[in-house]
Amino acid sequence: MPHKETVVVGGGVVGLSVAWRLAGSGPVVVVDPAPAAGASWVAGGMLAPVTESWPGEEALLELGLASLDRWPEFAARLGVGLGTDGTVVAALDAADAAQLDVLADHLASLGRAVERLPGRALRQVEPALGPSVRSGLLVPGDLAVDNRELLRALLDACRRAGVRFDKRRASTVEPGVVRLVDGDEIRCGTTVIAAGAWSAGLHRALAGLVRPVKGEILRLRVRPGVLAPRHTVRALVESRHVYLVPRAGDELVLGATQYEAGFDEEVTVGGVRDLLADAERVVPGLAEYGLTETAAGLRAGSRDNLPLVGRLEPGVLVAAGHHRNGLLLAPITAEAVHALVTGCPPPGAVLAADPARFIPEGGHR
Ligand SMILES: Cc1cc2nc3c(=O)[nH]c(=O)nc-3n(C[C@H](O)[C@H](O)[C@H](O)COP(=O)(O)OP(=O)(O)OC[C@H]3O[C@@H](n4cnc5c(N)ncnc54)[C@H](O)[C@@H]3O)c2cc1C
Repeated sequence: MPHKETVVVGGGVVGLSVAWRLAGSGPVVVVDPAPAAGASWVAGGMLAPVTESWPGEEALLELGLASLDRWPEFAARLGVGLGTDGTVVAALDAADAAQLDVLADHLASLGRAVERLPGRALRQVEPALGPSVRSGLLVPGDLAVDNRELLRALLDACRRAGVRFDKRRASTVEPGVVRLVDGDEIRCGTTVIAAGAWSAGLHRALAGLVRPVKGEILRLRVRPGVLAPRHTVRALVESRHVYLVPRAGDELVLGATQYEAGFDEEVTVGGVRDLLADAERVVPGLAEYGLTETAAGLRAGSRDNLPLVGRLEPGVLVAAGHHRNGLLLAPITAEAVHALVTGCPPPGAVLAADPARFIPEGGHR
């Protein structure tokens, strides 16, 4: 059924994917002063439900796997390439190795393929790893995407599908109306709040449910003649997480710090220092690479690490709180929002992300 005009507040990977999906069945406007410039622009690009998983977060793994299944078709329709070489997870000391054992046992208990390897065997698979790597895992199945290529493709696809862009900032959302900070308002049928870490301020039901989680990340250039990883490399270095994601061409993304620092988006010296020092212990050739960019972004954290995807009240939906996995979860989020707007049941794995889990009986619905 065609729907009345839908306003999507926020044009990051989530808002753009939702807008593109909805554009096939009615008019859509994306309201965002700076589309494609939030966390989605700085992100690492791993589509990694398996290596992100942890005991106790089974619903998130199920959601991530359901979205990963949708990625090949999503990427093909957008004309975007995917990294398919899988992930190598490396541990440096005995405590790091013990943590990887927990991950490996957990994945094995869920029937996921993982291979535990000693350092030497891991280096045969990924020769860029250094001699300090003590042991690790080989995890096939996770994918990777160039997030910036993806955003450009989504912007193009939205424009081609007739999505309009309004480059103003929203202040609040109520059923049938989006108020803008310039005092104007937009009347609409449905509103989808997809403003990432900034979503909580837009609707009273979201207050305290979404918070910013700062992440710093670097972009490196692999110079000719220097050994570079072929796989996505994740590592635990004295319990700190670091990862390297190779891109087509000579770019390598090195991430990422994680802090609770409010809406601070400044890159700190300490963050860059720690990332470089930890990553160099894993991949010693890194010291020879060029450093082309430092950036910081705000993940949208939720209370249980699952996103909030569903109805807040009649005519108002939310698609936010995707934390470390917004790129991964974009296809299934768009499908779920499309289902809700057009009156169809959303994919089963999304039910765990219904914001109703936080909203008391009798609250907004
Ligand atoms: C360092 C780092 C590395 C990451 N790596 C990965 C990864 O490897 N894989 C993965 O899946 N995820 C990763 N993530 C997480 C991922 O980036 C996010 O989950 C995802 O980008 C969320 O997308 P979004 O569209 O919800 O938010 P954003 O991309 O932050 O977009 C929100 C948009 O809302 C707009 N906006 C804000 N306020 C308003 C307002 N009042 N009115 C209108 N518009 C507004 C902003 O301008 C922005 O464009 C990473 C995040 C960080 C910070």
